[in-house]
Amino acid sequence: MTEKFFLTNQKDSREAFFHVIESVCKAAADTISDAAGENKTDSNVNSVSAYSGLPPLDLRRLLNSQTILPEEGKGFDVIISKMTTDILPNLVRTVSPGYMAHLHSPVLLESLAAELIISIFNQSMDSWDQSPAATEIEVLVIKELCRLFGYGEKSDGVFTSGGSQSNTTAILLARDYLCKTKLKHDVKKLGLPSEYRKFKMYASEVSHFSMEKSAHLLGLGYTAVEKVPVDKQRKMDAEKLEELIKKDISAGFIPFCTAVTIGTTDYGSIDPVKEAAALCKKYGMWLHADAAYGSGLIMSQNYKSRIDGINLCDSITVDFHKMFLQPISCGALLIKNAENFSPLELHADYLNREEDEEDGYINLVGKSLQTTRRFDALKIWTSFQVRGQKGWDNIINTCVENAAYVYEKLSCSTDFETISKPEISSVVFRILPSEKKSEAFTDGMNKSIRRTLLHKKGVVIGQTVDCGRVFLKFTLLNPSVTKEYLDQLLTLILSLRDEYQAQS
Ligand SMILES: *Cc1c(COP(=O)(O)O)cnc(C)c1O
Repeated sequence: MTEKFFLTNQKDSREAFFHVIESVCKAAADTISDAAGENKTDSNVNSVSAYSGLPPLDLRRLLNSQTILPEEGKGFDVIISKMTTDILPNLVRTVSPGYMAHLHSPVLLESLAAELIISIFNQSMDSWDQSPAATEIEVLVIKELCRLFGYGEKSDGVFTSGGSQSNTTAILLARDYLCKTKLKHDVKKLGLPSEYRKFKMYASEVSHFSMEKSAHLLGLGYTAVEKVPVDKQRKMDAEKLEELIKKDISAGFIPFCTAVTIGTTDYGSIDPVKEAAALCKKYGMWLHADAAYGSGLIMSQNYKSRIDGINLCDSITVDFHKMFLQPISCGALLIKNAENFSPLELHADYLNREEDEEDGYINLVGKSLQTTRRFDALKIWTSFQVRGQKGWDNIINTCVENAAYVYEKLSCSTDFETISKPEISSVVFRILPSEKKSEAFTDGMNKSIRRTLLHKKGVVIGQTVDCGRVFLKFTLLNPSVTKEYLDQLLTLILSLRDEYQAQS
């Protein structure tokens, strides 16, 4: 018997392929069905719990007891069954309506199909001869995205592994652009200019940590990131931004970039883009939009005006494994002026010869921090066409409206405290004790309720800290979550509060 390594044209290889794929599909589907719990009164309702697996120490014990590299291979059937018993039940189920802790989404069916093609054919996006149609599709999808976000003819973009990589790439391009235009210095060739300790970038105090991480990676350090205060709605205060820029300039610093957050990770708050754009113009700075979360609003006819002005930014981070419901990884960086990709351009004799490009072979390696890169654009090509504008409009509207519904209920109840009115699909709140207690008691109670939901109720919600106090969070990315479900969850949370109070 020839060993079956790959899917080939041979009969036994095809059979092995179907066997592998069918077994894994069955194992996954059974795991999800098993997680529907005892509550099967209406089989049309998605009652899959978000987690019913082991707590951390038991899980570690179970998984540690296994040999990863045995002397003799055990074969696929043994391992898939071990995977089914030990691993699958201990994974969170992002399809559950009760899975709402993070910007971590369930995945659309058609994108699973695309994901399978991505892996089976394993194209690599760095050069045309590793990804002929895939290169053309990525270029087309990027064009469509630029159009959607209101960019003009000169724009371009690239798929990335997600929001963090998009942000790092954007800030690198911003830094090099500033060095080229203001200091006549080529960072690609010469490294950082001697003035580098004076570089400043600005992001709100609730921006994503990838801002600092990027500053570190780019040789500037955390102190290069000035944190701009936010207002009550957790949006960047544009007046404070200008004050900071002015103060820094008069102290001899060199402001090079402002990053507005279009949908902060916790609150979904949207920074004032137009004001920031005017300031960046005035002070000769790059404006980046970290729209990892809020980019999804572009698909909604009702709500896309909330991100008006995003096309004024020099670069936009889009993250498809959040509101766009795609399997990880899937992100993009869009650039208003394609010429600004030049710091990433390079030529290798073995990969992307200059004469190739003259003959029409597109090699995308010159726009990415990565070399070998996944064909993630296929997932967008697929699910945009499968659902169309109307289907997408519906998905995003449902999530936004669910958040508005929860906020309405919480903000007019004396049992809860909220912070900001949701602009996207997250609601941050805390549960208040039914009679006056210390802040420490309230913090402890909120933490405990989250843990109980996770380990006893199959519901995974978020927890964060706002102004020193513990808050909880619903991140509503799943369009199949209903208002009835949200009502039930709030009732459950209140009953957990009463239990907690009775015990303490
Ligand atoms: C999620 C998020 C990121 C990081 O994106 P990854 O895909 O996790 O790398 C960056 N910025 C914001 C505002 C985010 O919410």
